[in-house]
Amino acid sequence: MPSRQDGPSVDLHTQPLPRMPGVGPRVAEKLAARGLTTLQDFWLQLPRQYEDRTQITPIRLLQPGVAAQVEGRVEAVDRGFRYRPMLRVAVGDDSRSVLVLRFFHFRAAQVAQFRIGARVRLYGTPKPGQHGLEIVHPSYRVLDDEGEVALGEQLDPVYPAIEGIGPATLRRLIGYALDRLPDDASLELLPRELRERLQLPTLREALLTVHRPAVDADVAALIAGRHPAQRRLALEELLAHHLSLRRQRISQQAHKSRPLKQMPLAEKLRKALPFKLTGAQRRVFDEIRADLAKPSPMLRLVQGDVGSGKTVVAALAAMLAVQHGRQAALMAPTELLAEQHLNNLRRWLEPLGVRVAWLAGKVTGRARKAVLEQVANGEAQVVVGTHALMQEGVAFRDLALAIVDEQHRFGVHQRLALRDKGAGGAVGDDAIVPHQLVMTATPIPRTLAMTAYADLDVSAIDELPPGRTPVQTVALGEERRPELVQRIRTACAEGRQAYWVCTLIDDSDEVIAQAAQTTFEELSQQLAPLRVGLVHGRMKAKEKQETMRAFKEGELDLLVATTVIEVGVDVPNASLMIIENAERLGLAQLHQLRGRVGRGSAASSCVLLYRSPLSGLARQRLDTMRKTHDGFVIAEKDLELRGPGELLGTRQTGLAGFRVADLARDADLLPLVQELGERLLKTSPELAERIVSRWVGGAARYASA
Ligand code: ADP
Ligand code: MG
Repeated sequence: MPSRQDGPSVDLHTQPLPRMPGVGPRVAEKLAARGLTTLQDFWLQLPRQYEDRTQITPIRLLQPGVAAQVEGRVEAVDRGFRYRPMLRVAVGDDSRSVLVLRFFHFRAAQVAQFRIGARVRLYGTPKPGQHGLEIVHPSYRVLDDEGEVALGEQLDPVYPAIEGIGPATLRRLIGYALDRLPDDASLELLPRELRERLQLPTLREALLTVHRPAVDADVAALIAGRHPAQRRLALEELLAHHLSLRRQRISQQAHKSRPLKQMPLAEKLRKALPFKLTGAQRRVFDEIRADLAKPSPMLRLVQGDVGSGKTVVAALAAMLAVQHGRQAALMAPTELLAEQHLNNLRRWLEPLGVRVAWLAGKVTGRARKAVLEQVANGEAQVVVGTHALMQEGVAFRDLALAIVDEQHRFGVHQRLALRDKGAGGAVGDDAIVPHQLVMTATPIPRTLAMTAYADLDVSAIDELPPGRTPVQTVALGEERRPELVQRIRTACAEGRQAYWVCTLIDDSDEVIAQAAQTTFEELSQQLAPLRVGLVHGRMKAKEKQETMRAFKEGELDLLVATTVIEVGVDVPNASLMIIENAERLGLAQLHQLRGRVGRGSAASSCVLLYRSPLSGLARQRLDTMRKTHDGFVIAEKDLELRGPGELLGTRQTGLAGFRVADLARDADLLPLVQELGERLLKTSPELAERIVSRWVGGAARYASA
C-alpha cells in the first residue's frame, strides 16, 4: 500500500462509522453490502432523480409520462374481484377531471383510508389507462379535510433503493452524514484554479446542492443531470476512475516479465501462412515485438475491425513465447469463437510441431484431467479456451503471454485473473507476470478509448486483407421479404452460403429462440431442397457447434441464427446476410453482424430488413450502415447517436457503475479529465491517491494489482 498522507479530518470520513443513530447491526450489514460504511459513502450516495412536490398540478393538465403532484378528493373506490384483488381509486379535483390510482398490492387499512370524499395528495407518473390517465402505486398521503397543507419547499431527492431499508431511513442517514460535512479546507481536492476557470462549485457546495437543492435551484438542470453541481461531481468521479486506471498501469509496469525476443519460429509461421500479412498486421506485430522484448509486461490492446486479421497476429506473438520454451494462452468469450481459434491455430501451428491444447467448460472428466496435466507440465505450448482457462485448478507451468480476444466481453478483472495464472497466484510487488495482449473488434472513438483503456497501449489494424470486396448494403421494408427467398436461392445456386439473422430486442432468449425456430421452419419449407440450419442461444453447446461446423464445411446453404453469431464467426464462403428487424439493433451490433460476410473474394451483400415506421434515429443508423464500412467511422457515429455508455456496454468494467458521471452526458469532460489526470500524477501523486480512494475506494482491486 502506498503511504497515506491524509490529514486527520479526511481519515475520519473514510473510517467506518462507529454507529449511526437508529442503525442496528442488521441495518448496518445491509448498508455495508451496498458499500455504505463511512460518512463519505453516504455523502456520495447521490439521488437518482428528483421529485418536484413544490407545486400542485391540476388533473386536467397532467401529461402522460410526466411526474407530478396532485391533490383531490376520492370519488369512487373499486376493490376488484375476490380472486384478483386490485384497488382502484378515482380522484377528482377542481379542474373537474378524474385520475385513477391503481394498486396491485394493498392492505385493508389502505382501503379504509380511501373513504369517498377523503382528501389526498399524491405524487406519481400518469400514463394512459382504461378510463383516462392513471397512476400505478403513487406515493400518497391522506390529508385532513380542511385547511392549508404546506407544499414542499425544495425538490425531494430520490435515492437508489436499498433492499430492506425504507426510503425515509435512508434519507435520514444521508441527512445525518451531510450534517457532518466538514468545511472546504479539509474536503476539497480539486485545484482552485481549475474550479474557477470552469466555474464549478466546491465539493461541499456541490454535495449540498444535489442532496438538498434550494428552492430557487435550477430544477430542470438537476433533473437532467446537467447542473454545475452534478458536473463538478462527475468531473471528480471521472478523474478518479481515470487515475485509478493509470495507477493500475503504473503498478503493473512495475512488475517484471521475461523478455521474449527469439523470432525464428514466428518467422517460420509467417512464411508458412497461405497469405501475405497486410501492412497493418506487420506494423502491429512489430509494435508487439518491441513490447515483448522488454523486461516489463506488455499491456497492449489491438483494435481491428471485423475481418482485419487479428488472430494471426496473436498467433505470431504466441510463437515468441513458444520459442523461449514457455507457454501462451488465448481466451475467447464464447465457445463458438474459442473453437474457431482452436481450429485456426491447430491448422497453422501443428505443422510447425507446436502443441495446441483446448480447454473449455465442456471438456470434462478424464479429458479435462489430461489437458490440465499438459498445461501444468508444459507439454501444452499454446492453450486455447474460454473462461474455463481462469478457473481454479488450471495451473500453467510457465505462462509467458496471455491473450484475450474480444476484450469488450470480458472485464479488467478477468484479464487480470488470467495474468495471475502466469504468476502462480496473487501478484506481489516483485512478481514475474505474463505479457498481456487484448484484442477487440469494437473500435471506439479516440477520446473514449483513452478513458476506457487508460491502462493499455493501443494498436490499430486499420486495413483489411486484400481482395475483399465491400459488402453492398441495402435497407428494405419488411414487405419485401418474399423477394429475399428468391435472392437466397440465387446465391446458393452459385455455390454461396447465406445467413438469416433473427432479432427481437427486449424479449427473452426463449422468445427469440422461438422466433428463430419459426423462421427456420418457414424458410426450410420455402427454400427446399436447400439445406437450412439453425443456431440460437437456447441450444446445447454441442448442437450449436455441430451446426456451425456443418455450415462452415458447406454442408448447409443457409444458416438461420440469432445474434449468437455476432462475434468472430468466420465462414468466407458466406456472401449474403439478411438481418430482420434491423431498425432495432445498434450500430455496433449491425456492424459486427455484417462483418460475417464479405470475408471471401465473392461480392457480398447485406440486407437490412426493417419494419415501418422508422424512427429518426433508426433511419440514421440504417443510412450509416449503407454508406460506410469503416468501423471507426461507424463508432464515431454510434457515439454521436447513442452516447458512450451504451457504446462501451456495461461489461466495459471500470466504467460501469458510476455514481454521478454518465459517459453519454459528460463525454465532453473526458479530454479535460485526461489532461488533468496526467498533470496530477506528475505533480501531486498524493492528491491523486486521495481522489481515487474517495471515489473508487478499496473495493477495486487496483490497490493490489
Ligand atoms: P478478426 O480480426 O475479425 O478476428 P480473423 O483473424 O478472424 O479476423 O481473420 C479473418 C479472416 O481473414 C480469416 O479467415 C483469416 O485467416 C484471414 N486473413 C487474416 N489475415 C489475412 C491476410 N493478410 N490476407 C488474407 N487473409 C487474411
Ligand atoms: Mg476475431
